[in-house]
Order: sequence, then structure tokens, then C-alpha cells
Amino acid sequence: MKVQHRLLVANWKMNGSVALVQTMNETLADISLSAVDVVICPPLTLLHHFTVQGNVQLGAQNISQHNAGAYTGEISADLLLEAAVTYVIIGHSERRTLNLETDEQIAAKVKVAVQAGLIPILCIGETLQQRQQEKTEQVIARQLDAVYASQPELLAKSVIAYEPIWAIGTGESASPEQAQATHAFIRDHLAKLDKEAASNIKLLYGGSVNGDNCSALFAQPDINGALVGGASLKAAEFAQICSSAQ
Ligand code: PEP
Repeated sequence: MKVQHRLLVANWKMNGSVALVQTMNETLADISLSAVDVVICPPLTLLHHFTVQGNVQLGAQNISQHNAGAYTGEISADLLLEAAVTYVIIGHSERRTLNLETDEQIAAKVKVAVQAGLIPILCIGETLQQRQQEKTEQVIARQLDAVYASQPELLAKSVIAYEPIWAIGTGESASPEQAQATHAFIRDHLAKLDKEAASNIKLLYGGSVNGDNCSALFAQPDINGALVGGASLKAAEFAQICSSAQ
């Protein structure tokens, strides 16, 4: 694999405020981010308050599979580009569950994002029950194949976030060994579609990453960064996570 910057993505979900943006802008401006890429995905209304500085870029939490039209409440790739967004989270487990997003819609969104020049961060992961039933690899393979089997050319333009659902927002992260094992499986699985893209793709771990557990996760060879929810709302802790990824 090429030596590349780790990628740290902050998913604010439906949280934050203009005040938090200002604090985050100031906090990130004060630390060295020369060897790490940082993406902040705030609610859409906060995007324009962010300072895109150095290695800090903007992301969105969702995208429409449609280009324009009568889709109340949706947001298109072009609108995101106009808002200086460069990354977009697609298929987060909360959207799969609460918004009933299907594998087919998620595949369409990844395609639309790549075609527009945005970098999709595809989220995949198993439930606790699926893990206990030893179905983790089967579930992940299905989620990956739904997007990439028929459009493998998108792989080289994508980021993938492995987010075990049982670890999201629970305070119970996967162990570094558990996360590494699944990341290695993801890379091997993707290599069947495109060997080079699989070896270069950034695989992020997400699920209760915090200032205490991040270093051990980043020490794993197939973990190339993190998707951080709760801890990304605390500027000092998120800055600490970014610094550990340097
Ligand atoms: C997430 O929302 O993608 C996430 C990983 O959240 P948390 O870090 O709070 O578990």
C-alpha cells in the first residue's frame, strides 16, 4: 500500500451550532495537521460557517441520488459542490435504519457522488445479532457487493467506513483486533474486484472512537483513519484524535 495520510472524519449528525463551528475552527487552526486529512460533516446549515483551512475539508452526511427536481428535503451533488463540500457520507446505519435506505439506493448515491467529483464515504457494518451469529463477513460482503460488484470502477474513488452498529454511540468500541480482522476481510474482498484500488483504498473504523482508544486503533495496519461521531463534538478531544493520527 502507498504511504498516505490517515483520514479523520467528524460526523456531527444533527448536532452542533455556529458556536461549536467557531470553537472547532480555532482548535484545529492551533494544531499541526500536516500529515492527516480531516473532514468535518456538520448539519448542512453550518457548512458555510466552517473555514476550509490546510488539510481540513468539508463533508455532507447524505446526498440525493437525483440531480434536481421535486425532492423536498433532499440535497444534490451540485448543491453540495457549491457549498465547498468534497466528501459525502453514504449509507450510514442510521439512514439505513431510520430512513429505510436500501442497498440499491446507496449504490446509486455512490455513483452520483463519484460522477460529480465528490468522494463517497460508504458506511457498512453488522448488528450485534449478526456478529453473534457469526454473519459479520456475510453482511459486509453483501453491502460491498451491492455497491461495487456492478460498478467496480467506483472503488478507486471511494472511502469505506466499517462501523459495527453495536459500537456506534454505545461507548463500546470494537477492539483493535476485531476492527483489524474485519478491515483485512474488507480489503481482501475488494481485491477480487480491483486489486490496486483495494490496496490503496482508505478504510476507516467508526464506532465509539475517542481520545483514549484511537491510538491503538490507528496502530492496526488496515485501519487508515476513523469516522468519529460523539467525540467529534468535543473540539479538544477531536483535536487529540487528529493529532494521534499524525
Ligand atoms: C457515527 O456516527 O458514525 C459514529 C461512529 O458515532 P460514535 O463515534 O458516536 O460511535
